[in-house]
Amino acid sequence: MLQDPTVEAAELERTFIAIKPDGVQRGLISEIIGRFERKGYKLVAIKLIVPTKEFAAQHYDDLSSRPFFNGLCDFLSSGPVVAMVWEGQGVIKYGRKLIGATSPQASEPGTIRGDLCVQVSRNIIHGSDGPETAVNEIGLWFKPEELVSYTKNDEKWLYE
Ligand code: GDP
Ligand code: MG
Repeated sequence: MLQDPTVEAAELERTFIAIKPDGVQRGLISEIIGRFERKGYKLVAIKLIVPTKEFAAQHYDDLSSRPFFNGLCDFLSSGPVVAMVWEGQGVIKYGRKLIGATSPQASEPGTIRGDLCVQVSRNIIHGSDGPETAVNEIGLWFKPEELVSYTKNDEKWLYE
């Protein structure tokens, strides 16, 4: 069905997306999932999990020297997080566009952070920042058997 192998390969791109405890507590799960879903991306894994502080520190280990690191890990482990893997062409980079800039003060209106939150330390969502990070984060949060490969009926209308 797909003629161009580069398109086929691109469709398999996956990214790790998490709704942080503030997004869950503020009732924004469906709003956030809806934006990825309506764009045309495919949900391939999802679970609700309260990470330990140690796990949060592993997830954010590239930020361990930053002054806000301890508070960030306390916060991520303070309640349920919706951990997800989304799949689709360009989903890593475009997922970050849907999310918006790190600080909601700098996020454009129309983005998730631009529309739905105010402060950098309560910015409701995480998304992998590149292909290598995506692989590492998916591997940290999910076992391989938790990722579901399936054909979605709208794919033939999303991809030529
Ligand atoms: P992201 O990839 O856009 O989430 O941003 P980073 O990877 O740079 O930072 C991870 C998370 O740390 C952000 O989403 C924020 O929640 C938090 N963070 C980043 N910068 C700051 C800061 O200057 N102050 C505080 N308090 N938190 C920050
Ligand atoms: Mg980041």
